[in-house]
Amino acid sequence: MLQQVNGHSSGSDAQGGKSLREDLQEFLGGEALLHELDDLTKVNPVTLETVLRCLQARYAADMFYTSAGCTLVALNPFKPVPQLYSPALMREYHAAPQPQKLRPHIFAVGEQTYRNVQSLIEPVNQSIIVSGESGAGKTWTSRCLMKFYAVVAASPTSLESHKIAERIEQRILNSNPVMEAFGNACTLRNNNSSRFGKFIQLQLNSAQQMTGAAVQTYLLEKTRVTCQASSERNFHIFYQICKGASVDERLQWHLPEGASFSWLPNPERTLEEDCFQVTREAMLHLGIDIPTQNNIFQVLAGLLHLGNIWFADSKDEAQSCQLMDDAKCENKDGGLCISFGHTPREQGSIRTSASLLQLPEDPLLETLQIRTIRAGRQQQVFQKPCSRAECDTRRDCLAKLVYARLFDWLVSVINSSICADPDSWTTFIGLLDVYGFESFPSNSLEQLCINYANEKLQQHFVAHYLRAQQEEYAVEGLDWSFVNYQDNQACLDLIEGSPISICSLINEECRLNRPSSAAQLQTRIESTLAGSPCLGHNKLSREPSFIVVHYAGPVQYHTAGLVEKNKDPVPPELTRLLQQSQDPLLKVLFPMDPEEKSQEEPSGQSRAPVLTVVSKFKASLEQLLQVLHSTTPHYIRCIKPNSQGQAHTFLQEEVLSQLEACGLVETIHISAAGFPIRIPHQNFVERYELLRRLCTRTSPGSHSPSPDEGHSEWSPHTKGATLQPLLQDILHTLPALTQAAATPGDPAEATPVPVHCGRTKVFMTDSMLELLECGRAQVLEQCACCIQGSWRRHRHRKQERQRQAATLIQAAIRSWLARKHIQRMHAAATAIKRTWQKWRAQTSLLEAIIRLWPLGLVLANAAVGVRGFQRKLVVWACLQLPMGNPSSYAVQTAQEQAGVTSIRALPQGSIKFHCRKSPLPYADICPEPSLHSVTGFNQILLERHSLGHM
Ligand code: ADP
Ligand code: MG
Repeated sequence: MLQQVNGHSSGSDAQGGKSLREDLQEFLGGEALLHELDDLTKVNPVTLETVLRCLQARYAADMFYTSAGCTLVALNPFKPVPQLYSPALMREYHAAPQPQKLRPHIFAVGEQTYRNVQSLIEPVNQSIIVSGESGAGKTWTSRCLMKFYAVVAASPTSLESHKIAERIEQRILNSNPVMEAFGNACTLRNNNSSRFGKFIQLQLNSAQQMTGAAVQTYLLEKTRVTCQASSERNFHIFYQICKGASVDERLQWHLPEGASFSWLPNPERTLEEDCFQVTREAMLHLGIDIPTQNNIFQVLAGLLHLGNIWFADSKDEAQSCQLMDDAKCENKDGGLCISFGHTPREQGSIRTSASLLQLPEDPLLETLQIRTIRAGRQQQVFQKPCSRAECDTRRDCLAKLVYARLFDWLVSVINSSICADPDSWTTFIGLLDVYGFESFPSNSLEQLCINYANEKLQQHFVAHYLRAQQEEYAVEGLDWSFVNYQDNQACLDLIEGSPISICSLINEECRLNRPSSAAQLQTRIESTLAGSPCLGHNKLSREPSFIVVHYAGPVQYHTAGLVEKNKDPVPPELTRLLQQSQDPLLKVLFPMDPEEKSQEEPSGQSRAPVLTVVSKFKASLEQLLQVLHSTTPHYIRCIKPNSQGQAHTFLQEEVLSQLEACGLVETIHISAAGFPIRIPHQNFVERYELLRRLCTRTSPGSHSPSPDEGHSEWSPHTKGATLQPLLQDILHTLPALTQAAATPGDPAEATPVPVHCGRTKVFMTDSMLELLECGRAQVLEQCACCIQGSWRRHRHRKQERQRQAATLIQAAIRSWLARKHIQRMHAAATAIKRTWQKWRAQTSLLEAIIRLWPLGLVLANAAVGVRGFQRKLVVWACLQLPMGNPSSYAVQTAQEQAGVTSIRALPQGSIKFHCRKSPLPYADICPEPSLHSVTGFNQILLERHSLGHM
């Protein structure tokens, strides 16, 4: 019996444990409802696991947008979801009284920014920072937002303003294919990866109507023009030209069918981005006419041919490197080179390139081969033949210079077509489409700059997020100081700090213009910045490198080529050469500007500060952050659920790495560093009220250290006012709980309990929640034991009482039955006795009556109404005469004489009789119908039912 109970109880324990967990899950958030949680901060507790599960559940339910506090997380559906971006939905968000109460959506963010601008509350200007990995949907998001603004930021009444907004919108939208063609490329991660940062400023007038826009770009990855990692591609535009040009255009640009270029790897891959016609149309809409377009494509074709120029090592240092001949036609990357016509390939390439760029051929070759040095006080000019590597560098530099200027020119064209008159706008909404954190097997200056920008933006985000948290804590009446969070300042100090940082060291190398090896730079960085907690070193790395521990993870940067890239030296001869070009576009890109000329003097000889890549980038980043700081920021984090671009596929690992890279995990950690568990008072009291039992059971007087109640100011109007005493009671049990949980002698005894009571919620850490749950389970167990004990006692007592009662009843019934039996026996005996006695008495009397008077009575008092034969029968009956032979006896009556009216019969037969006027006492009493009743003396005492014998 006991075993069974135990077995049962252990089974229910296991079940109870599971259900307890489920119960807690339900209390904290509810597993089944995960996809309904539209804010990741509502996931309880806020951990990576729960955040991932929530995102996955929502993705499975086709809910691609989720809030995460002040951030919107946008999952890329990788499939068309037209209803998600319909104009009707835009209007719904625009018309909603509280758009943030609707489902999370980029339109909610857009509408929020728009209303903020309308409300004119400082800071009026708004910025939306869209970040995420390549292919996560940043550009898509920016495009959708622009469409949204074009719908909402146009006056419904003024047709003209509507037209302006539409025109601006169309131009901004048209700028996308152009900028993507020139600035995007296919990388390992994304077929359409933006290789530059973009900030679009949508300008609004005082009536909040869009009057114009401005685009600013950051850090175009121009090295991609001349150098592409294996399996990656150059910028889309090169492929578009080669694949989309007409026969005439091919002839004109010297791009025969099937031609291959060393700067055009993987041309066999056809992407949907390779749409030359779309780019051309967009350019046309932006005001770039067909001749200008052709001019652009011609220059780009010239650059492609430039890439096919290779130099051979010179035998003599005094001699310049010659062009490589046909026999050695293999380039260093193993790429295939082509030759045109019968001219040697290089000569063909240089000639074609020169003709396409409209440069004189010999000066072009000479500029690539020979370096011009100005030295001495008189700035005498010396010429020095370059090594083969230097020639290659100069060739690459020329191409990068042209491409970068072309890109900037395009941006300026776009700007001039969409920019409004500075007086016509008063406020703006900024859209920042930035590249995300990057970490490749080999990282260089580009990654350092990108990651530096991400660190800056993360710092901005954290500051903003913490401010938002602070506001929530302030609303709850809590003190902010208890959240211990280390921001990424240490990492930023390492990269950009003053006086010494990685940037300053690299810049210094450029300024000193001294030859330094990669290993020397590594040693310098390591020795000078050894104290930084964010600097690491990979001992196993064979190449000189250093590690920076970013907020999103450590990244190893190779020092080789870092200084050169930072210097980004543009030999002045190259600029001068390009200024000689007869090409109309190159003339625009490289104007004869004396100021520029002096700027591009070799820096070693001028005293002007060197404008390195890092310093230029830093300056533009600071400018951007200044703009962002002056605005109210909104964050959209785009997430790619898988790298294959497949719909309905959510890969947790990949999403996790992106959450890390976009800083969401950091945010979660910050949240965890604070008090991620927030439980409304009502719920808290309902769940943990039973903990008060612990308090009364343990040490009733011990109250130290107590939870932070200093800030639990209860406003009298809150309905929680009635909860206060209960809540306070519960909070007083917590020290006992933590003390019980701490190991003996643990100094943690003295630490304050990590629970804070706000005005409407109780804030706590994960560990505290665990403790509370443990305490609750303990109380529940005790209660269960108590209930079980009481129940068993009660059941035992009840059974005992029932047994006693049953015994009593049985005894009583038995005695009653016995008595009853005896009584009946007794009564029966008495009745028999009495009847017997009566019968005996009657029998003797009857015998006497029968013997003595019946005959006389019958004879004397024969029935009056009975005559003749009937009378005889009566007499026979009375006299018990045999009926058989009437002749043997005679019956005589004297009725007439006596005048008797009644007859008394003998008791041998059942005779009904009627008494009338009897002279005898009681004879006139009519007998009762009862057969046994005895009412008169003359009645029949014994009745015979059967008169058969008569
Ligand atoms: P990013 O700019 O972040 O590199 P894109 O915005 O170019 O990425 O998005 C990459 C691809 O993902 C797009 O070409 C599109 O096919 C798809 N995509 C992104 N967001 C969405 C969306 N909200 N709905 C449908 N498809 C999307
Ligand atoms: Mg993009």
